[in-house]
Order: sequence, then structure tokens, then C-alpha cells
Amino acid sequence: MRIVVASRNRHKVAEIALLWAEHGWTLVPVDALAPGAELHEDEPTFEENALAKARQAAAATGLPAVGDDSGLEVDALGGAPGVRSARYAGDPCDDGRNNAKLLAALRGVPEAERQARYRCAAAFVDPARGLELVRTGACDGRILETPRGNGGFGYDPLFWLAALGRTMAEISVDAKNLLSHRAAAFSALGAALKAAKFVV
Ligand code: IMP
Repeated sequence: MRIVVASRNRHKVAEIALLWAEHGWTLVPVDALAPGAELHEDEPTFEENALAKARQAAAATGLPAVGDDSGLEVDALGGAPGVRSARYAGDPCDDGRNNAKLLAALRGVPEAERQARYRCAAAFVDPARGLELVRTGACDGRILETPRGNGGFGYDPLFWLAALGRTMAEISVDAKNLLSHRAAAFSALGAALKAAKFVV
């Protein structure tokens, strides 16, 4: 069965492909079937945004679709950047600018108060069967004062994993896939789909 992935983030698509490799499902990036399909994510929660993206990709392609929405919540910032993580720095916006804004917002905040977590919601939508499923995952960490590592993407160079003594940008994709928010959400979603025999 082919499943459309409602994302243009190649890092995410690669992570999802690895996370679901055991199932043997064929994952197709939305742009391969419907280039430029709209993927709005203007909702107030990760769950609603994940569903919105999956619904849009399914509508554009006529196939079952999976979408995810994720972001970083920092306690000292009242949960920001949250659902706005990708666009935190405003316009123009990229990982470097987002990280710079985060460091500026946390300037002077002591180590013990820099707790944060990544959150992810993963949604599967199959309009032909009237099916919509959402699962969530989280990963706890702390925001460093200077970046470390070249792997991963987004806020990974600032996201410290105390148990490993490394940032998320200093571990391999395989290691990230054992503990990340996306791993938790997609493992749960994959298991639910398999258990319900909706995808074989
Ligand atoms: P989304 O594409 O709307 O889900 O945007 C998620 C944004 O949250 C990304 O652009 C990153 O800024 C941040 N983010 C989500 N997951 C991760 C991750 O695994 N590592 C680093 N940043 C992440």
C-alpha cells in the first residue's frame, strides 16, 4: 500500500521512512505526486496541524496520507516556540535565525531553568475508509547556551540530552530514532494501524 507523506522537510521524511521501515509500507513524498500541494498548518495544536496536513495531502493525491506536526516547548518561555517552532524568527526564517532568537530569549536564564521538550503529533488519514488516527510523542531535554554538533536539523544543536551527555545534533539518525518525539508518535501510530489491519 502507498502512503503519501505530507511534508517537504527531507530530514523528517527520511526519519519517518526509517521509523516505519519494519512495516514495509511504500512512503511517497507529497511533491512526487502533487507538486506544490497546499499544506497549511495554521491550527493551535500539534494534533490539529498534523491532521490538517494529512487531510490536505490525501485530498490532493486521492491516497491515504500521513502528516506530522512537531515543535519545541521551552518552560521558561511559557511553552514557546511551540506550534510556531518552524517560523519562530518571523520573516525571513531558517534554523540559524530560529536558534539565534531562542538563545536571545533565554539569555541570563540559568541552566536549571532551561528545561524543554520536543513534541510531535502524527496523523493518518484515509478518506476512502473514513479513517483518521492521531498519536503523540515527546522527548525531554534542556536548551544549551551554545550550539553543539552538525547532525539533525532545527533546534537539535541546542537540545541537550542529559542521559547521553550529547545534543540531538551529536547523535546518529538511528540513535535519534530510538528516543525522539517523532519516534514515539510514529511508533504508536504504526502499531495502531497494524493492529487495526488498516494498512497491510
Ligand atoms: P513542522 O514542520 O511544522 O512540524 O515544524 C517543526 C519545527 O519544529 C521544525 O522546523 C523545527 O524548528 C522544530 N522541530 C521539530 N522536530 C524537530 C527535531 O526533531 N529536531 C529539531 N527541531 C525540530
